[in-house]
Amino acid sequence: GAFGDSTLWSLLPEFSMPPRAGNVFMVVAPSGAGKSSLVNALLQARPEIRLSISCTTRAPRPGETDGQQYHFVSVPAFEKMEREEALLEWAEVHGNYYGTPRDWILRQTEDGNDVLLEIDWQGARQVRSRFPDAIGIFILPPSIEALEARLTDRGQDEPHVIARRLLAAGGEFAHAPEFEYVIINQDFSAALADLTTIVTAARLRFRSQAARHANLFSELGIPHTSAPL
Ligand code: 5GP
Repeated sequence: GAFGDSTLWSLLPEFSMPPRAGNVFMVVAPSGAGKSSLVNALLQARPEIRLSISCTTRAPRPGETDGQQYHFVSVPAFEKMEREEALLEWAEVHGNYYGTPRDWILRQTEDGNDVLLEIDWQGARQVRSRFPDAIGIFILPPSIEALEARLTDRGQDEPHVIARRLLAAGGEFAHAPEFEYVIINQDFSAALADLTTIVTAARLRFRSQAARHANLFSELGIPHTSAPL
Protein backbone atom coordinates (compact mmCIF):
# COMPACT_ATOMS: atom_id res chain seq x y z
CA GLY A 1 0.00 0.00 0.00
CA ALA A 2 0.94 3.65 0.23
CA PHE A 3 2.68 3.02 3.55
CA GLY A 4 5.44 0.45 3.40
CA ASP A 5 6.22 -1.65 6.41
CA SER A 6 9.30 0.39 7.21
CA THR A 7 7.26 3.60 7.37
CA LEU A 8 4.81 2.07 9.80
CA TRP A 9 7.68 0.65 11.77
CA SER A 10 9.33 4.01 12.23
CA LEU A 11 6.05 5.50 13.41
CA LEU A 12 6.22 3.25 16.44
CA PRO A 13 8.93 4.70 18.66
CA GLU A 14 9.09 1.58 20.79
CA PHE A 15 10.25 -0.49 17.84
CA SER A 16 12.63 1.97 16.26
CA MET A 17 14.44 2.78 19.50
CA PRO A 18 17.53 0.85 20.53
CA PRO A 19 17.07 -1.47 23.49
CA ARG A 20 17.42 0.19 26.88
CA ALA A 21 20.78 -0.43 28.43
CA GLY A 22 19.96 0.67 31.96
CA ASN A 23 18.98 -1.98 34.47
CA VAL A 24 16.23 -1.31 36.98
CA PHE A 25 16.96 -2.78 40.42
CA MET A 26 14.21 -2.92 43.00
CA VAL A 27 15.37 -3.55 46.56
CA VAL A 28 12.52 -4.50 48.84
CA ALA A 29 12.52 -5.31 52.55
CA PRO A 30 10.40 -4.68 55.60
CA SER A 31 11.76 -1.80 57.67
CA GLY A 32 14.44 -3.05 60.03
CA ALA A 33 15.94 -5.59 57.63
CA GLY A 34 18.91 -3.29 57.09
CA LYS A 35 17.99 -2.32 53.55
CA SER A 36 19.12 1.30 53.61
CA SER A 37 22.60 0.54 55.01
CA LEU A 38 23.11 -2.16 52.39
CA VAL A 39 21.93 0.06 49.57
CA ASN A 40 24.12 2.94 50.76
CA ALA A 41 27.16 0.68 50.86
CA LEU A 42 26.35 -0.66 47.38
CA LEU A 43 26.13 2.88 46.01
CA GLN A 44 29.51 3.69 47.57
CA ALA A 45 31.02 0.64 45.89
CA ARG A 46 29.19 1.25 42.59
CA PRO A 47 28.76 5.02 42.34
CA GLU A 48 27.53 4.76 38.74
CA ILE A 49 24.25 3.28 39.96
CA ARG A 50 21.67 6.05 40.38
CA LEU A 51 19.33 6.00 43.33
CA SER A 52 15.75 7.03 42.71
CA ILE A 53 14.53 9.56 45.27
CA SER A 54 10.90 8.86 46.10
CA CYS A 55 8.21 11.31 47.11
CA THR A 56 6.53 10.71 50.44
CA THR A 57 3.89 12.31 52.61
CA ARG A 58 5.58 10.99 55.76
CA ALA A 59 7.30 13.53 58.01
CA PRO A 60 11.11 13.67 57.85
CA ARG A 61 12.91 11.73 60.58
CA PRO A 62 15.68 13.44 62.54
CA GLY A 63 18.66 13.76 60.21
CA GLU A 64 16.64 13.44 57.01
CA THR A 65 16.84 16.25 54.46
CA ASP A 66 14.34 17.09 51.75
CA GLY A 67 15.61 15.92 48.38
CA GLN A 68 18.15 13.55 49.91
CA GLN A 69 16.33 10.54 51.43
CA TYR A 70 12.98 11.64 50.00
CA HIS A 71 11.14 14.53 48.47
CA PHE A 72 8.84 15.34 51.40
CA VAL A 73 5.52 16.54 50.04
CA SER A 74 2.00 17.29 51.29
CA VAL A 75 -0.91 14.93 50.66
CA PRO A 76 -2.52 17.32 48.13
CA ALA A 77 0.80 17.70 46.30
CA PHE A 78 1.19 13.92 46.19
CA GLU A 79 -2.35 13.43 44.91
CA LYS A 80 -1.72 16.01 42.22
CA MET A 81 1.36 14.11 41.01
CA GLU A 82 -0.63 10.91 40.98
CA ARG A 83 -3.44 12.51 38.95
CA GLU A 84 -0.95 13.94 36.48
CA GLU A 85 0.70 10.53 36.08
CA ALA A 86 4.01 11.89 37.25
CA LEU A 87 4.58 8.72 39.30
CA LEU A 88 5.83 5.44 37.87
CA GLU A 89 4.28 3.68 40.85
CA TRP A 90 2.92 4.63 44.22
CA ALA A 91 1.60 2.90 47.32
CA GLU A 92 0.32 3.59 50.79
CA VAL A 93 2.78 2.13 53.31
CA HIS A 94 2.33 2.37 57.09
CA GLY A 95 -0.30 5.08 56.65
CA ASN A 96 1.73 7.35 54.35
CA TYR A 97 1.96 7.70 50.58
CA TYR A 98 5.17 6.86 48.75
CA GLY A 99 5.82 7.14 45.02
CA THR A 100 8.58 7.01 42.41
CA PRO A 101 8.94 10.01 40.06
CA ARG A 102 8.41 8.67 36.54
CA ASP A 103 10.35 11.02 34.24
CA TRP A 104 13.63 10.66 36.10
CA ILE A 105 13.61 6.84 35.76
CA LEU A 106 12.68 6.92 32.08
CA ARG A 107 15.42 9.42 31.32
CA GLN A 108 18.09 7.51 33.25
CA THR A 109 17.31 4.12 31.74
CA GLU A 110 17.09 5.56 28.23
CA ASP A 111 20.52 7.09 28.77
CA GLY A 112 21.79 3.63 29.68
CA ASN A 113 22.17 4.26 33.39
CA ASP A 114 21.37 1.65 36.01
CA VAL A 115 18.83 2.80 38.56
CA LEU A 116 17.97 1.46 41.96
CA LEU A 117 14.60 1.79 43.63
CA GLU A 118 14.02 1.27 47.35
CA ILE A 119 10.32 0.58 47.32
CA ASP A 120 7.76 -1.80 48.80
CA TRP A 121 6.32 -4.94 47.20
CA GLN A 122 3.22 -3.12 45.91
CA GLY A 123 5.39 -0.64 44.06
CA ALA A 124 7.62 -3.44 42.74
CA ARG A 125 4.60 -5.02 41.05
CA GLN A 126 3.73 -1.75 39.32
CA VAL A 127 7.31 -1.16 38.18
CA ARG A 128 7.40 -4.65 36.68
CA SER A 129 4.42 -3.90 34.47
CA ARG A 130 6.41 -1.02 32.95
CA PHE A 131 9.87 -2.65 33.13
CA PRO A 132 9.40 -6.42 32.75
CA ASP A 133 13.18 -6.91 33.02
CA ALA A 134 13.42 -5.13 36.37
CA ILE A 135 15.45 -7.11 38.89
CA GLY A 136 13.70 -7.71 42.20
CA ILE A 137 15.80 -8.27 45.31
CA PHE A 138 14.15 -9.08 48.65
CA ILE A 139 16.15 -8.61 51.83
CA LEU A 140 15.31 -10.73 54.88
CA PRO A 141 16.40 -10.29 58.47
CA PRO A 142 18.11 -13.37 59.97
CA SER A 143 15.29 -13.70 62.52
CA ILE A 144 12.18 -11.98 63.86
CA GLU A 145 14.14 -11.06 67.01
CA ALA A 146 16.82 -9.37 64.95
CA LEU A 147 14.16 -7.42 63.07
CA GLU A 148 12.55 -6.20 66.29
CA ALA A 149 15.92 -5.28 67.79
CA ARG A 150 16.89 -3.25 64.71
CA LEU A 151 13.60 -1.36 64.71
CA THR A 152 13.95 -0.54 68.41
CA ASP A 153 17.67 0.30 68.38
CA ARG A 154 17.25 2.71 65.51
CA GLY A 155 15.47 4.93 68.04
CA GLN A 156 13.86 6.90 65.24
CA ASP A 157 10.24 5.89 65.65
CA GLU A 158 7.62 5.88 68.42
CA PRO A 159 6.83 2.48 70.02
CA HIS A 160 3.40 2.35 68.39
CA VAL A 161 5.00 2.99 65.00
CA ILE A 162 7.51 0.19 65.63
CA ALA A 163 4.70 -2.17 66.62
CA ARG A 164 2.81 -1.33 63.43
CA ARG A 165 5.90 -1.94 61.32
CA LEU A 166 6.58 -5.31 62.96
CA LEU A 167 3.02 -6.38 62.32
CA ALA A 168 3.28 -5.24 58.70
CA ALA A 169 6.54 -7.17 58.22
CA GLY A 170 4.63 -10.45 58.45
CA GLY A 171 2.46 -9.42 55.52
CA GLU A 172 5.47 -8.25 53.52
CA PHE A 173 7.34 -11.53 53.86
CA ALA A 174 4.43 -13.21 52.11
CA HIS A 175 5.50 -11.39 48.94
CA ALA A 176 9.10 -12.59 48.92
CA PRO A 177 8.26 -15.28 46.29
CA GLU A 178 7.60 -12.48 43.76
CA PHE A 179 11.30 -11.60 43.69
CA GLU A 180 14.14 -13.16 41.72
CA TYR A 181 16.71 -12.79 44.48
CA VAL A 182 16.73 -13.13 48.26
CA ILE A 183 19.47 -11.86 50.54
CA ILE A 184 19.55 -12.82 54.22
CA ASN A 185 21.15 -9.94 56.07
CA GLN A 186 22.88 -11.77 58.90
CA ASP A 187 26.40 -10.56 58.28
CA PHE A 188 26.59 -7.11 56.73
CA SER A 189 29.64 -7.62 54.53
CA ALA A 190 28.40 -10.98 53.28
CA ALA A 191 25.03 -9.44 52.44
CA LEU A 192 26.76 -6.56 50.66
CA ALA A 193 28.83 -9.02 48.63
CA ASP A 194 25.59 -10.81 47.69
CA LEU A 195 24.00 -7.57 46.55
CA THR A 196 27.06 -6.58 44.52
CA THR A 197 27.11 -10.01 42.88
CA ILE A 198 23.48 -9.64 41.78
CA VAL A 199 24.21 -6.25 40.25
CA THR A 200 27.26 -7.58 38.43
CA ALA A 201 25.36 -10.58 37.08
CA ALA A 202 22.51 -8.37 35.85
CA ARG A 203 24.94 -6.22 33.91
CA LEU A 204 26.37 -9.27 32.18
CA ARG A 205 22.98 -10.31 30.79
CA PHE A 206 22.88 -10.50 27.01
CA ARG A 207 20.64 -7.50 26.49
CA SER A 208 22.63 -5.28 28.85
CA GLN A 209 25.90 -6.21 27.21
CA ALA A 210 24.47 -5.84 23.69
CA ALA A 211 23.24 -2.34 24.49
CA ARG A 212 26.44 -1.28 26.21
CA HIS A 213 28.74 -2.75 23.56
CA ALA A 214 26.61 -2.17 20.46
CA ASN A 215 29.62 -1.53 18.21
CA LEU A 216 31.44 -4.71 19.21
CA PHE A 217 28.29 -6.77 18.82
CA SER A 218 27.63 -5.50 15.29
CA GLU A 219 31.30 -5.87 14.33
CA LEU A 220 31.13 -9.51 15.44
CA GLY A 221 27.88 -9.98 13.52
CA ILE A 222 25.85 -10.89 16.57
CA PRO A 223 22.17 -10.57 15.66
CA HIS A 224 19.75 -8.32 17.49
CA THR A 225 17.32 -10.32 19.47
CA SER A 226 14.27 -9.80 21.57
CA ALA A 227 14.85 -13.09 23.34
CA PRO A 228 14.17 -13.10 27.04
CA LEU A 229 17.10 -12.36 29.27
P1 5GP B 1 10.40 4.50 55.42
O1 5GP B 1 9.27 5.36 55.90
O2 5GP B 1 10.92 3.60 56.50
O3 5GP B 1 11.49 5.33 54.78
O4 5GP B 1 9.83 3.57 54.28
C1 5GP B 1 8.74 2.76 54.52
C2 5GP B 1 8.49 1.83 53.37
O5 5GP B 1 8.10 2.55 52.20
C3 5GP B 1 9.70 1.00 52.98
O6 5GP B 1 9.29 -0.35 52.77
C4 5GP B 1 10.11 1.62 51.67
O7 5GP B 1 10.76 0.70 50.83
C5 5GP B 1 8.79 2.03 51.10
N1 5GP B 1 8.97 3.04 50.07
C6 5GP B 1 9.85 4.06 50.05
N2 5GP B 1 9.74 4.77 48.93
C7 5GP B 1 8.78 4.17 48.18
C8 5GP B 1 8.22 4.42 46.89
O8 5GP B 1 8.58 5.35 46.17
N3 5GP B 1 7.24 3.58 46.48
C9 5GP B 1 6.80 2.54 47.22
N4 5GP B 1 5.85 1.76 46.70
N5 5GP B 1 7.31 2.27 48.44
C10 5GP B 1 8.28 3.07 48.91
